Amino acid sequence: MKIVVLKFGGTSVGTIKRIKKVAKIIVSYVKKKYKVIVVSSAMSGITNELVKKSQRISDTFNPSEYDVLVSSGEQAACALIAGRLNHIGYKSRSWMGWQIPILTEGDHKVSKINQIKKNKIKSYLKSGGIPIVAGFQGINLSQRITTLGRGGSDLTAIIIAKFFAAQKCVIYTDVEGVMTTDPRIYKKAKKIKIISYEEMLEMASLGSKVMQSNSIQDARLNRINIDVKSSFVKKNGTLITKRKNIVNNKIITGISSTKNDAKVTLVGVKDKPGIAASIFKPLSKNYINVDMVVQNISADGNETDLTFTIKSEDVKKTKKLLKQNRKIKFKNLIIDKGVSKVSIIGVGMITTPGVTYRMFQALSKRNINILVISTSEIKISVLISKKHVVKAISALHKEFKLDK
Ligand code: ADP
Ligand code: ASP
Ligand code: MG
Repeated sequence: MKIVVLKFGGTSVGTIKRIKKVAKIIVSYVKKKYKVIVVSSAMSGITNELVKKSQRISDTFNPSEYDVLVSSGEQAACALIAGRLNHIGYKSRSWMGWQIPILTEGDHKVSKINQIKKNKIKSYLKSGGIPIVAGFQGINLSQRITTLGRGGSDLTAIIIAKFFAAQKCVIYTDVEGVMTTDPRIYKKAKKIKIISYEEMLEMASLGSKVMQSNSIQDARLNRINIDVKSSFVKKNGTLITKRKNIVNNKIITGISSTKNDAKVTLVGVKDKPGIAASIFKPLSKNYINVDMVVQNISADGNETDLTFTIKSEDVKKTKKLLKQNRKIKFKNLIIDKGVSKVSIIGVGMITTPGVTYRMFQALSKRNINILVISTSEIKISVLISKKHVVKAISALHKEFKLDK
């Protein structure tokens, strides 16, 4: 069977008119003799609305009920797509995660798919049907509905492509592909024709939410090529593939930025072995993700300042945990929610010296102060004031000739 997996994101199924267009795209693959498996997100805005409702009910809303609630948006979208395909003469039906089933493990809200039972979908495909699978959801061993983290329909599509050995996995979205930076932030962003899994993974986890980062990790492990393209205009998109397939002369492939980071500084912490561990242990136990960390060199060997970043939504909890922590002493706790992390990403930097210098100089020329720095082989991230993000992206986009 020549199978293709087509995933449609929220905006692509955001209105009735768009769902009709989606049905046409699906049919175009059927006409090319593909067996099509469709994965759909909820109509745009729906999942956010549901999340907000849960928060208004309780700030400790039961996680398993959260999954039942927020996964419901996909159910409606799938029914509408299947209904439209039926209307124009095609055999199609919706499939919720539990009906297939898509089996997951791990905690609610952030479950992982560990297996997909193929029989029912296979025989449905053989009978000429077009299955419309709800993205973002599955079912666990306790027979409860689970979800895969925000943006999780991408992951559903990629894991389905893996289990069904699909020839293609196409992610239809509201932009023409993966761009050098978020086009909503910087208009001159250019489409990237081809990008490696490693670069896409960095971009996604550093804030480019065009693809969910977990999904890229799975695509990389399973060597699944992904096409990201627009459901609005018929144009070539971006191919996400292995590094070997790419010839590229650019030093930097893309620029990402985050929206909701917070910087925490503990002033006057005792400088002794084990202190960092004592600070971070309770945070990690409470699932608070600490990202960038810097510790100042203490002038007198007694006290130091320790700075780290977390997600803004974790500020309240972090504050409480730090204040309750009897193993540490500090003079002051400073929290700044007005920060953002800007990162440049590219495999080209492995072989090109001077990239860090060029980044810092480009920012300093615009009077942008760097608060924290972190690097890996293929990325450099800086923490800056949120109000400078657009200016920083534009400066870096020009510096590394991404406008061209
Ligand atoms: P979907 O609903 O189709 O899953 P998302 O909203 O999750 O779509 O992702 C698409 C959005 O990602 C775009 O509208 C764009 O604003 C944003 N985005 C952020 N960074 C990038 C990037 N580097 N390239 C393309 N889009 C990006
Ligand atoms: N509807 C879900 C969300 O908004 C899943 C997705 O869009 O991929 O996070
Ligand atoms: Mg998405």
